[in-house]
Amino acid sequence: MTREAEYAGGMMDKRLQSQLWRVLLAMAIGGIVSLTTDSVSADENNFDETGLLTREGQHLRLTSDVNDALLLNDLVQSFDDSVPQWLAFWGVPESRTANWKIQGYLMRNVDTFRKSGALPDFVPRFDHGYSSPHTIWIRHQDTTYYNRHLILHEGIHSLAFELFGAGGPSWYMEGTAELLALHRDRVPTPSKQPRSELSLNTSVLAQSMDPFTINQLPRNRLDTPGWGRYKIIAQHREAGTLPTLKSVLKLPTELNGEVEAYTWCWAASSLFTQSPESNAAFLKAARKGSDQSEAFTSEFYRDVAEQWPVLSARWRLMMNDLDYGFDWSRHRVELSTSDPRASGASIQMNVTPDQSWQSVGVWFPKGARLRFAAEGRVHVTSDWISEPAGITLEYNRGNPLGQLQVCVLPIATPAGATIPGLDIQPVITRADVARFKSNTSDDSTNDSAPMTGANVISLTEPSWVLLRINLPAGHSPIETTANAQEAYQVQIIPSR
Ligand SMILES: [Zn+2]
Repeated sequence: MTREAEYAGGMMDKRLQSQLWRVLLAMAIGGIVSLTTDSVSADENNFDETGLLTREGQHLRLTSDVNDALLLNDLVQSFDDSVPQWLAFWGVPESRTANWKIQGYLMRNVDTFRKSGALPDFVPRFDHGYSSPHTIWIRHQDTTYYNRHLILHEGIHSLAFELFGAGGPSWYMEGTAELLALHRDRVPTPSKQPRSELSLNTSVLAQSMDPFTINQLPRNRLDTPGWGRYKIIAQHREAGTLPTLKSVLKLPTELNGEVEAYTWCWAASSLFTQSPESNAAFLKAARKGSDQSEAFTSEFYRDVAEQWPVLSARWRLMMNDLDYGFDWSRHRVELSTSDPRASGASIQMNVTPDQSWQSVGVWFPKGARLRFAAEGRVHVTSDWISEPAGITLEYNRGNPLGQLQVCVLPIATPAGATIPGLDIQPVITRADVARFKSNTSDDSTNDSAPMTGANVISLTEPSWVLLRINLPAGHSPIETTANAQEAYQVQIIPSR
């Protein structure tokens, strides 16, 4: 096919598409299908002479060469739904954005926008999106989720210009944009229906659906198709190349769209906002956004320096555990630099399945040697009840589901640019169970004695000691008939 013929074919397609859209719009005006959302009116003539489609909401006017009115409606509505949530995050009154509106371009063929001047020469080449104070440019993506994510991400940069003069240095600017762009759609995601059908039904179902919410962690792949940050974290976890928290703050000013750097910035921002040690300092820092120099980072670091060992330890746990279903309500560990020092006496504690890591509550000195005894039963699924050794028929990340695990977490911040893997061990092994059973076989009434593990943990530096039941990141406690919370009863025994 010659270039001319291809071109003619393209024209034909475009004419057909235009006709189709006119029919759809006519149907919409006639009330046959609903293309409208609250802030978007379908009865304007949205096609300009270049064949571009424009949709306009309160805060975003979006122009695109993608002939998908439903997608554009969705993007504009999602943007308008996000703005009040972003303001609430920063503690800024809604009146500040009453007249704030930006122009956005969603581009399939970038050349079209270069030629028309909508994408000016001063904007460099980019793979995903680009923002200026009043305009954002997005390259069209394969999934609705990721188109929305990028529109929100670039829009947050523009809003930061408006509210704070800019978004701070790159780790902060990109971290907050990623944090506040990560969202959960109003449409329940497990549905297999095509997107167009879902969108057409949106207005009908709106009452019974979850609201559109930003700053959400994905429960599963279907929540955020195209996002893929957890895959990057898993790859680096396996390769032992996860960055330290401090090295994230030292990322260069220009990230050049590197997805990995964005992943670390996002994770750090999530940690800083979710940790009581840093939440206030992180939000306060936004006000200094016009300072994009190292001074911004130095001031933030000064604000949290006293708590840095806790934040750094939280980062190591987070990097080890981040996966679909990770939920801060389950992964917020009680850790403090003012935890009392271990007295040398045995410690009793309950380890419950509703939380991930649970601290023993003291810190142990270098040279401490610990043994553990444990007993108890917990539901790990509605069908499976586990004891501290775990269930060898069901595994989570290579270890038996329900296994009681211990993590020795050094108080000192690791030196270097990458974090060492966490020291996680089973408390009671299968060998312990076999030995225990052979010792007690003559005396079946002795069932109530807790089982002591043969494993002795030696601490090579001052550390916190954490325990957990090995369960998937997104585990929810299983409903049981018992009123009391299920738990393993654990004894931590100092040993010589
Ligand atoms: Zn960005």
